[in-house]
Amino acid sequence: MNKSYFNLNLNIKKSIAFKVSLVISLAILVIMGVGFYFLIDMQRAAVKKNINDYFTSIYEMVLVTIREQHPQNGILPSKQLREIMRGHKEIISSNISSYHGVMKWASNPSDVGKINKLISENKEGWENSGTKSGIRVLEHKNSTLIIAPIFPEQNCIKCHQDKKEPIGFFSAESISLSNLFSDVYRFSTVSFLVILLTILVTLLILSFALRFYVVKPIDTLLSMIQAVEKGNFLVRAEIKREDELGILSRGFNNMLKKITDLMVSQLDQERQVVAMQHELKYKEEIEAKSRKIFEINASLEKKLNELSLLIELSSALNSSLELDDILESLVQILHRKMNYLGLVVLLWDEEERVLRVKRTFGYDDGELLRNMTFKPGEGISGRVVESGEMILVNNTTNDERFLHYKGKKIIDGSFLSIPMKFKGDIIGVLNFSRPGINMFKDEEVELLKAVANQAAIAIKNAELYQKTLELSITDALTGLYNRRYFFKRFSEVIDNSQRYNTGFSVLMIDIDHFKNFNDRFGHKAGDEILKRVAYIFSSRVRKVDIVARYGGEEFVVLFPRMKKKEAVDLGEKLRKNVELSKFVFEGEAVEQKITVSIGVAAFPEDSSDAREIIELADKALYEAKRRGRNQTVAYNGSLSSNG
Ligand code: GH3
Ligand code: MG
Ligand code: MG
Repeated sequence: MNKSYFNLNLNIKKSIAFKVSLVISLAILVIMGVGFYFLIDMQRAAVKKNINDYFTSIYEMVLVTIREQHPQNGILPSKQLREIMRGHKEIISSNISSYHGVMKWASNPSDVGKINKLISENKEGWENSGTKSGIRVLEHKNSTLIIAPIFPEQNCIKCHQDKKEPIGFFSAESISLSNLFSDVYRFSTVSFLVILLTILVTLLILSFALRFYVVKPIDTLLSMIQAVEKGNFLVRAEIKREDELGILSRGFNNMLKKITDLMVSQLDQERQVVAMQHELKYKEEIEAKSRKIFEINASLEKKLNELSLLIELSSALNSSLELDDILESLVQILHRKMNYLGLVVLLWDEEERVLRVKRTFGYDDGELLRNMTFKPGEGISGRVVESGEMILVNNTTNDERFLHYKGKKIIDGSFLSIPMKFKGDIIGVLNFSRPGINMFKDEEVELLKAVANQAAIAIKNAELYQKTLELSITDALTGLYNRRYFFKRFSEVIDNSQRYNTGFSVLMIDIDHFKNFNDRFGHKAGDEILKRVAYIFSSRVRKVDIVARYGGEEFVVLFPRMKKKEAVDLGEKLRKNVELSKFVFEGEAVEQKITVSIGVAAFPEDSSDAREIIELADKALYEAKRRGRNQTVAYNGSLSSNG
């Protein structure tokens, strides 16, 4: 609270007390001035009338006395007259004179006979009006004189002449009337001043009282109102007295209290509103955040699914190096994780330069598509191979490029063809289809691209593995199995023979005089001969038979479950085939004849020890050489003894 609000800062000339006092003072002064003026006048008139009446009554008594007494003896009744005058102390002297002023009776007997100058000066102008108002009052400095005429009656005219003029005059001298007036005036003035003083003192007291009881509390209230105007609602009026202002102050305090309460409740409400707004804002923010979190969750879940698809795919595809297993895992996982997909896997055949359908999924008639091929540029898949870029067809009905798998797969919808590439080389193509238009969203396409990349790596790995495997078991020049692999298979065949009690036969083949050939035609030509001979052997035996390069120009053929006789026949057939073959090297026919010598041995015919059979076949071969070459020799007991 600012204490200065309670200081009296009003100009005194503006204060109510000053104004009220001033107005009342002026009003009283005017009223009293006018009143005093009229009062003095009225006093003067009243005194004059009283003196007049007083003198008139004396005059009348004198007249009555004279009229009753004088006519009886013609003598003025001086005794009775004196008696009348004695009753009026104010009368200094009195006399009765003739018309000419000769005093006939006087209160001072020595004056009888003397001339009353006053009468002689005033004897004119009287009229017999018969009224008592005919007296004259004359003011002197220290006294008042009266002159009253005595007119004749019926009785009088017996002795006095009936004239218009008075018979005589009654005159008297009293104390001065003006003195009387000045006394009254003085009294009135003093009274006036006393009253004025009383009023002024009263006003002064009233002014102080007003100031103390009214103005000061009002000023305090005013200061408070100014404070309130400036926004300070916490000020309170001090209540010193239980008067009207006290009640007013209390009322004002109550009003302020109510305003303060109202303001507090308004503030509370505003605070509540602000709090509610904040709450609402936070609620909205939280809701927005929740929505965001929900969206993020959904997208995370999606990403997780995608990631889990890629992880599962990666682990499945990398768990095997078998192409068939890999392709099977690929279609199964894609189908399971992205259920509604129709899926076709095509692999690039480098030798034939075509795309070939290797796996289908999601088609009832998948068999119809198996091994279907597409040349580069043919249909969507062919175009993908050609460009190496993915193709998305949002509506296959309107796309002429789409061949519906050469008419075998008519269902329309959305179609996505993604190349499987490894280091820029096309491995194959993954085709996805789905009923409905625009069914592949960007994110899904990106995911499937990643899938295609992974599949490409896995397929490439499998192919490389296959190749490495083949390299490790085959002979690089002839493509036949190598000696090491042959022995592996040989021991399997031995195992089976013992388990199932079945037999087998072995051919040992050696090219005749091959050294000579090399010497004559060169090593390169020799290599070509080796390849051709190898082909003759491998192409003319059963699938179950194992042909291997045993050494430089030596070959071995293993016939599981084949009797010796049959093997000898087959060996002979092979020998003839070689003998009859025409060999060409660098476009020219090779002049020298190529022949082979073959030794045959069989289990169990030649030995109860299966492992011995190779050795025995070799012995038979040796025998064939010895006998002159280009022949097939079957082992028999004698061979062994011959060495
Ligand atoms: P035989 O009729 O007694 O078997 O006489 P041959 O000359 O064939 O036998 P030999 O053991 O004396 O010589 C084998 C020849 O085979 C020696 C070698 O020059 C040749 N040869 C071995 N491996 C290869 C090969 O990989 N390429 C070529 N061009 N020649 C080979
Ligand atoms: Mg040899
Ligand atoms: Mg040889």
